[in-house]
Amino acid sequence: MIPNVQLNDGTAIPQLGFGTFLVPPEQTAQTVGEALRLGYRHIDTAQGYANEEGVGRAIAESGIPRDEVYVTSKLDNGNHRPDDVRRSFDETLRKLGVERLDLFLIHWPVPMLYDGDYVSTWKAMAELVEGGRLTSVGVSNFEPAHLDRVVGETGVVPAVNQIEAHPYFPNDTARAASHAHGIAVEAWGPLGQGAVLDDPVITKIAEARSRANSQVILRWHIQRGDIVFPKSTHRERMAENLALFDFALSADEVAAIDGLSQGEAGRVGPHPDTFDLH
Ligand code: NDP
Repeated sequence: MIPNVQLNDGTAIPQLGFGTFLVPPEQTAQTVGEALRLGYRHIDTAQGYANEEGVGRAIAESGIPRDEVYVTSKLDNGNHRPDDVRRSFDETLRKLGVERLDLFLIHWPVPMLYDGDYVSTWKAMAELVEGGRLTSVGVSNFEPAHLDRVVGETGVVPAVNQIEAHPYFPNDTARAASHAHGIAVEAWGPLGQGAVLDDPVITKIAEARSRANSQVILRWHIQRGDIVFPKSTHRERMAENLALFDFALSADEVAAIDGLSQGEAGRVGPHPDTFDLH
């Protein structure tokens, strides 16, 4: 029911998954367990979310075979030194209770830290794939210049770039640069972290189709070809966000949603060139 997106390393990723940013650690096993019962088979977490253990517990308790659940985690901004990449990757596998991770991303480029060196971080990430315990390696919040630099200096092309994208901030510049390198785009904050949900244009389309506002927005992403993993801690919303493959937006509806772009002003998150939290 959920289509796969082919990645440039020959593997495939479910186009729709479940996000876990701000899912409280003590609630994560239960929430992710619910998502798996509903049919999600792709979970997005990060070292920085402090909930990898809960994700791991939910997968173990679900009884679903390991290779039927796609799991992504991300390198914390404090772990960019190559030794810390290797050490913290081991820790991520231990916390998730898995022997192999599907996808590991550099969470933010933090170009103002580590003397601007995210290239040695990238090399250490790519070496994890050679070790066999990581299937795919990618980046997140990489602007066009960051992509050009890692590809130019290492020759290793990230499988995905996970970037903020939604109708208020479609992020077409970073999307186009990713596509030019053959990198699949994952859209984080697909609902604008809630900001886009009550937009009147979305409401009008949703009412005309007797669909939830969230479904209209998420369907727009699906038709753009991006990978999405909305987050919700409410069961009925989780179910709603899964039901995207029994309808399609018309070209006019897509154009109306495209028209909501506010450019840079539409960002709900920080700019990757200046975000240095670690
Ligand atoms: P989303 O755009 O997924 O929005 C989540 C918000 O929307 C929550 O407040 C949720 O509320 C609400 N919501 C979800 N579904 C519905 C619905 N059907 N109806 C009404 N409200 C709804 O934001 P996220 O920031 O969570 O982005 C998704 C994922 O992307 C994250 O969870 C994380 O995995 C990843 N991410 C990655 C980042 C990066 O730097 N790489 C940065 C940010 C996110 P409630 O939970 O109360 O239902």
